Amino acid sequence: MDVPDLGPIEEYIPVPEEFWSFADEQPFKTCTICNKNLLSTGNLYLVEKAYRCGEVVFEYAMCVCCHDQIRNELSQQSLKLIGHYFDEHVNLVERRKKLLAGYDQSVSPWLSHCLITGKKASECNEYQIMTFCASGDLLFTYIPCLVSGEALAAIQNLLSPKTRERLDDFVDEFLGLPPEAKKPTPYIG
Ligand SMILES: [Zn+2]
Repeated sequence: MDVPDLGPIEEYIPVPEEFWSFADEQPFKTCTICNKNLLSTGNLYLVEKAYRCGEVVFEYAMCVCCHDQIRNELSQQSLKLIGHYFDEHVNLVERRKKLLAGYDQSVSPWLSHCLITGKKASECNEYQIMTFCASGDLLFTYIPCLVSGEALAAIQNLLSPKTRERLDDFVDEFLGLPPEAKKPTPYIG
């Protein structure tokens, strides 16, 4: 995605319940992949939760090291296509500006509609929410955001078979989904 680097983020709040671990009923404490402590100072990490029909389908917290590692294993072509897809559908810079103008330390306005299609969250049967956090705080970067099932399916279609396979492996290995579950698309932006 073609967006300017934000530098140090001055807008942050303690991780709200929306991004707590559903399984543990509290904020994530460790990286789902490498088990690194996420709450010690300065550790940046991604939290993602997927919902279907109101139920959590999967959730994880991933430190930046693990995130970079997975990204590096994906095809450059797939990453490029995803970047273009986002650029075509959403102006992340404008969106952030608008949301911060009405900034009230609440994450709700960032999750109220699908980032890509604009569909209302309450009308989405399936969606994923994601955010960056650091040391127990949620950071308002270009996300938090919510992505609807329709947009996720469109993104899936952009992935090369190899990239899709790598993401499926990731899901199988770490998220423990039953084999019959439809594969989600972890955020790789
Ligand atoms: Zn990790």
